[in-house]
Amino acid sequence: MSSEKIENTYEKVVELAKRRGFFWPSFSIYGGEAGFYDYGPLGVLLKDNIIRIWKEAYLRENALMIDTPVVVPRAVFQASGHVDKFLDIAAECDKCHLRQKLETFTKSAGFQEVFDTVDSGLAFVNEHVVKCTNCGARITRVFDVRQMFFLPDQGSSGDLFLRPETAQGIFINFKILNNIFRGKLPMAVAQSGKGFRNEIAPRQSLIRMKEFNMCEVEVFVHPEKKYWAEIDYDEDITICPRSSPPLRVKAREAVESGLISSNAMGYFITLTQRILLRMGISKERLRFRQHEKNELAHYSFDSWDAEAELDGNWVEITGIADRNDLRNHEKTSGESMSVSTDEGDIVPSVIEPASGVDRIILSVLMHSIMTRDNGYTVLSLPAEVAPYHAAVFPLMKKNGMDQLAREIYRRLSMIDPYIFYDESGSIGKRYARQDEIGTPYCITIDGTSLEDGTVTIRERDSARQIRINAEEIINHGLLGNPAISRDKFSGQSS
Ligand code: AMP
Repeated sequence: MSSEKIENTYEKVVELAKRRGFFWPSFSIYGGEAGFYDYGPLGVLLKDNIIRIWKEAYLRENALMIDTPVVVPRAVFQASGHVDKFLDIAAECDKCHLRQKLETFTKSAGFQEVFDTVDSGLAFVNEHVVKCTNCGARITRVFDVRQMFFLPDQGSSGDLFLRPETAQGIFINFKILNNIFRGKLPMAVAQSGKGFRNEIAPRQSLIRMKEFNMCEVEVFVHPEKKYWAEIDYDEDITICPRSSPPLRVKAREAVESGLISSNAMGYFITLTQRILLRMGISKERLRFRQHEKNELAHYSFDSWDAEAELDGNWVEITGIADRNDLRNHEKTSGESMSVSTDEGDIVPSVIEPASGVDRIILSVLMHSIMTRDNGYTVLSLPAEVAPYHAAVFPLMKKNGMDQLAREIYRRLSMIDPYIFYDESGSIGKRYARQDEIGTPYCITIDGTSLEDGTVTIRERDSARQIRINAEEIINHGLLGNPAISRDKFSGQSS
């Protein structure tokens, strides 16, 4: 039985996500609120797996983990530049009141300009005819919108904001963290948690939200060397250097030839690729695009976006930026951020791989969804990403098959709790329900199981089955168990 990619996967994924319990729009019984999504029973498990893969990859890099508040006083974002510069230049149509980023209006009118002040935006719409994408009226009203949420109550030190990134919680703790790391460089610190942005036009479910999940790493390096570790020679990546078409290159060669500006940037681009592939992003639908100069955020000199192709559009899922925030905090707080090295005292530079968990989840689902020849949907998720590793079914609810199935389920879930038990409906329907949520294995207990203790194991993508002794999985679990490796299913009937 073969599976095929589905075109226009977005609607299918969003429908499946709500119906089966991955995610859905929040607050719907009160009419909803744009930009907020709930994760349901399957989505919570999937999200944990995505974050765990990221965390384990960075633990292998010896990264320190930290967890800091989402509510942050003004001083921090004044120093980082967010209070003054983290703004969207927006426009509103006077006729139909559609409100979007000014660039969304100008781009659809064929202009490539980027606006960082209200004045430059106003001058542009006065000089050029920019029409509303909804009703066609001319756009004349331009204003700025602060991207940070501001809390109405003050803290003991004054204004409070919801953080738009987790990064600042790491920067302001740099000295404490570096002391814990015994003064060594380079040093990586990682934080996962919520970020909040007052997006003008939230859209496409998990792509542009007002509250979202981030996994950020701040890699502190020597500012002149920007070195982390040797890059694997064989790793190839697709890159789009500034204003260039895509190139397939080896990361190390891209650094040596200067296409990528530093070892640390090349290393973390490569690591980001490895992590994303492990999560289930398709390599053919992943590229790294360097920001144009006029696209760079206020804090960054160089930035590469990991972009996933989603129904023909390239969408940023991880940004890897070269930043200099420690200098700003040193200047504003008066606290030294320097580290002693053999070559004297230095203030480290930062390479920051910052991932949006929600966008990765949507991309993984869109890259995994397939249709079988019989029209049924399969989520071909990596086993370690799938919400459940296996489902256990009695073939029928009689002759003791259900008792044995429940006993196998109970024992198996002692060593792997990500197991689902189901005894309702035909066996075909139960397989289809698990295929649709990405469960890699279905374990069926039948009449033969009662006689000799064997069970059938059906592998999701091939829909093929093998029969093995139940003890082999009860004793060793499912993930990484050689008794049920993929090759065991080739040549079996479906
Ligand atoms: P940035 O700091 O803007 O590079 O954001 C880091 C990552 O967060 C991006 O690569 C996105 O995956 C994610 N992200 C940024 N803004 C949003 C948003 N409004 N909704 C969902 N994810 C976002």
